[in-house]
Amino acid sequence: MTRKEFIKMCGLLGIGLPLQSTFSSCKKDSTSSDPGKVLIIGAGAAGLSAAYLLNQRGIEFQILEASDVYGGRMRTNTDFANFPIPLGAEWLHVERGVFDEIVNDSSVQVEVETTPYDMEVDYGLFEGAQISVEDVGFTIDQKFINATWFDFFEQYILPSVKDKITYEKVIETIDYSGEQIAVSTNDEQFTADRVIVTVPVKILQNEVINFIPALPEDKVDAIKNVTVWDGCKAFIEFSEKFYPTFVAFDIQPESAGQKLYYDAAYGQNTSQNVLGLFAVGSGTLPYVTLPDTELIDYMLTELDEIFDGKASSSYVKHLFQNWNAEPFTNGAYVYDNENWRRVRTLGESVGAKLYFAGDAYTTGDDWSSVHTAARSAIRAVSELVK
Ligand SMILES: Cc1cc2nc3c(=O)[nH]c(=O)nc-3n(C[C@H](O)[C@H](O)[C@H](O)COP(=O)(O)OP(=O)(O)OC[C@H]3O[C@@H](n4cnc5c(N)ncnc54)[C@H](O)[C@@H]3O)c2cc1C
Repeated sequence: MTRKEFIKMCGLLGIGLPLQSTFSSCKKDSTSSDPGKVLIIGAGAAGLSAAYLLNQRGIEFQILEASDVYGGRMRTNTDFANFPIPLGAEWLHVERGVFDEIVNDSSVQVEVETTPYDMEVDYGLFEGAQISVEDVGFTIDQKFINATWFDFFEQYILPSVKDKITYEKVIETIDYSGEQIAVSTNDEQFTADRVIVTVPVKILQNEVINFIPALPEDKVDAIKNVTVWDGCKAFIEFSEKFYPTFVAFDIQPESAGQKLYYDAAYGQNTSQNVLGLFAVGSGTLPYVTLPDTELIDYMLTELDEIFDGKASSSYVKHLFQNWNAEPFTNGAYVYDNENWRRVRTLGESVGAKLYFAGDAYTTGDDWSSVHTAARSAIRAVSELVK
């Protein structure tokens, strides 16, 4: 069964998705044991969420991050427009209650503005015909207003964990053969009692990290065989707004990828017209293979064909983000049709020493996303403190 089928089946059976596992308390409860020192590999949504929860419970931890910034695939550009541009994660794909779930502290009031689409007014285009927002696949999805997922993390999660992030530590070896776990870069070693691995699964697929002993066979098999989509985004500013909320494209087979132009300025307090391009899997072609000069010509030509030359005549500037070329990401995320059991295996812990959190390491019951990454961290930490 694919994850897509599994999610659909859960919907038909009325099973709430994803499974809620919020920590009920910031304090240690009597049933939890002290796990000792925890090392978290990666400072994206999952790593930061895990750190935040450990901090709430007074557990010692350190985050080792390969790059020189936190946030991972929530990266945001603040120079391109007068509102933040989300280069990776953009939409909130579940109810707003997930903010409280991640913050896990009833004394904190989350003040992040989001807007749903107006199903009556907004529409999309597909091969020249008008389609509804629902047809495009957006139902409960919301846009952040003059903010991004990154800003949410920066405001609510980061303050209590940022001093524990050590940057530019590219982890190459995790040796969990002894009582203490040794985590190494090419020239430095860190030790811990438990490790939470949150690097993108493509990083494990590319064997950047050597596990000693090797991970269990079923996990190795899942890592090797999981399909990770390529991914890119582009943002183009125009002097006039000639496009609707969405412009959808037919990618065949459906499981091969997705491609969508969309109004990136939707709901923002701005007069700038910015069109976004979201592309994953085969939808990223040919964008990720073109040099920048040809890239913009290609995008303008395909938009001109749909909008009678209005794209070229009102082009101002553009911005491109190729996630395949990011050294610590190497792609977008696990594809929507991945086998549900394989995804579940990715999320399983190993020997009460290694825990996995991140959009790929889940219980298989939701798409790759920020909220999934954060929820997987909730799951990993609750397993770790058991
Ligand atoms: C184009 C695109 C569009 C998206 N749109 C949305 C959206 O609209 N809504 C949504 O909810 N989600 C969206 N997502 C998915 C979302 O961005 C991810 O699911 C989520 O951010 C993943 O968080 P993570 O913590 O699991 O991984 P990451 O954010 O990738 O964090 C992993 C961290 O590990 C670090 N790392 C890697 N290798 C090493 C190493 N060897 N040693 C140490 N550190 C290492 C990386 O530098 C990184 O900081 C999108 C993703 C892409 C690519």
